[in-house]
Amino acid sequence: MIVMKPVDLKDKDVARFWKKVAGPNNNGCRLWTAGKGVDGRYGRIQVAGKAHYTHRVAFVIANGRQIKPGAFIDHKCHVTLCVNPQHLQEVTAKANSENRSGSQQGTKSGIRGVNWNPTHKLWVVRVGHAGKRYLGGYFRDLQAAEAAAIALRNSLHTNNLVDRVGPSEIQNAVDSPLRN
Ligand SMILES: [Zn+2]
Repeated sequence: MIVMKPVDLKDKDVARFWKKVAGPNNNGCRLWTAGKGVDGRYGRIQVAGKAHYTHRVAFVIANGRQIKPGAFIDHKCHVTLCVNPQHLQEVTAKANSENRSGSQQGTKSGIRGVNWNPTHKLWVVRVGHAGKRYLGGYFRDLQAAEAAAIALRNSLHTNNLVDRVGPSEIQNAVDSPLRN
């Protein structure tokens, strides 16, 4: 179980954190090189006996403050193992839902295929393919929703390379038109 709450970091934790981060690649991403979550998509680190997602830790270190309650840290680069603070942005569900207040369509999460549904107060996963929209379900947890969106896309598209290849392969293929 990965704790997603903000972390209280000591100087020694910060030093230990950056020792496990690779230098920037051609895309400017700084990849986490140590422990990962069970699905291998997100880095994680133990701080004061609890596991935390490394991109969230990187945000806290870089900004010198905790993540707002209920907010998540979005990868602008779409590389989930990246911990470059410049590639991370804090997104709150509240801010998202205010972007299009009154909308029945829900609002964007910053993650492809995942939108906030203000009626159900849940993340909804929808993926378009061949002119149709497919429902992937409703989720409380954004990262579970993201995983569901990826799984649904992979079942619909056979060439969705970004979701299917590992980060190192993305690095190698950085100049290819991987994203749509
Ligand atoms: Zn990055």
